[in-house]
Amino acid sequence: MKRLKIILAIMLGKLLIRLSRLLGNQGSNFPGAWGLRIYPGLLREMASRIRREIVVVTGTNGKTTTSNMIAAVLREQGYSVIHNRAGANMLPGIATAFIEQNNVLGLKEFDYALLETDEATIPALLREVKPRMMLITNFFRDQLDRYGELDRIITVINESLKDQIIKLILNGDDPLSLCFTSSGAQSIAYFGFEPTRYDVLDNRESREGRFCVCCGSELDYSRYHYAQLGEYSCQNCGNRNPEIEFKGQDLELTDKIILRVKDLRLESPYQGFYNAYNILAAAAVAKSLGMSDEAIRNAIHDYRPRAGRMEEFSIDSKRVVLILVKNPIGLNQSLSAVKDDINPKSVFFALNDNAADGRDISWIWDADLENLALEEHNIRKVVCSGIRSGDIAVRFKYTGFDTSLIMIESDLEAGICDALNCPVSVIYVLSTYTALFDCRKILLKLQKRSGQHPLIQPVRGQVVD
Ligand SMILES: [Zn+2]
Repeated sequence: MKRLKIILAIMLGKLLIRLSRLLGNQGSNFPGAWGLRIYPGLLREMASRIRREIVVVTGTNGKTTTSNMIAAVLREQGYSVIHNRAGANMLPGIATAFIEQNNVLGLKEFDYALLETDEATIPALLREVKPRMMLITNFFRDQLDRYGELDRIITVINESLKDQIIKLILNGDDPLSLCFTSSGAQSIAYFGFEPTRYDVLDNRESREGRFCVCCGSELDYSRYHYAQLGEYSCQNCGNRNPEIEFKGQDLELTDKIILRVKDLRLESPYQGFYNAYNILAAAAVAKSLGMSDEAIRNAIHDYRPRAGRMEEFSIDSKRVVLILVKNPIGLNQSLSAVKDDINPKSVFFALNDNAADGRDISWIWDADLENLALEEHNIRKVVCSGIRSGDIAVRFKYTGFDTSLIMIESDLEAGICDALNCPVSVIYVLSTYTALFDCRKILLKLQKRSGQHPLIQPVRGQVVD
């Protein structure tokens, strides 16, 4: 009876996945949700057929990139991997991944399962599967209206880890990583950067977790790598960065990232400090799992950015960079890539407030946009789009942009064309989650079209006053 229910759940799930793909949807959640409804133990059952390890990747930023990189290393080493790579990171999405990659009987065996998991889903996931390793990338303010405060999330994760035999891989540069302590059943390995030449001693970016997790005193920072990640100490109780096992050394950030972990030199086509953390975290997990240096080096070297993570397009000989933004820290990082680029450029920003974006858009005021309007950054036009185009326009206005440079065009395609249609060589397309795939579709279409004839579109949109 149990076997029959499992088969039924998988068959229905597979059917729903196919149907939803036929209809042009991602279909990454509801097939799993239906499968779990038919047989609630489905995930536990399929996860029991993982031969080696189940690895969970969670944290605020960098989950998708980091887990994609780890999966690439495992495959490079020749292992079979189940991985919820669509970024569907709650239980139904994870169940969908298992259903999709399994056979109809649910008996297929895999070497590893790599589960990118929303922080709030960790307790539910740990009731179903028994991972041996968990990576927590970092803890930043993210969509607070959905989950409540950071410390509540950390408490919930900590409680769910009780009695689990698990190895935690934590970001030692994040003071919040000290909320986790090794007990009999748990061991911890930290990753973090040595001082780099990109560090700053004064930082106006929004920061979480600047207070000591032990005594509540304000932390002293001797350097920041980015946001609240850096070298900290508590004058009151002596709390400080833990001993780092996986040290990032000799960091070079140019049009690519180069860093060293122990004897392993890594090179990646990604950009930005936050991606250097993703690479370091992926290497820490891969090394902890016993993967070879060669597999790690090759996988990181060949791994290309995915949708919305600095994906590049070429339209009318102009470079277009698509970036997903969803919280102040991520936006600050994206904007520092924009500022570092010396070319004349325009910025397109699509701000939506659908449920998946987070209804509360006040985070745009927490991001550090203040010196963006400086002439040295060479931003020739800002096009504000999406459902809340007016709000983001007001935000840019308060950063000091000449209002003649700011346009509102709530239609995505017309707005992107506005941003393309000015004398610039680079266009940065920033988008919140629910506008991302539409922006990407438009960019792919324009890229294809520009191969045939130059893009001529009337400049639409209104000027903000
Ligand atoms: Zn303290």
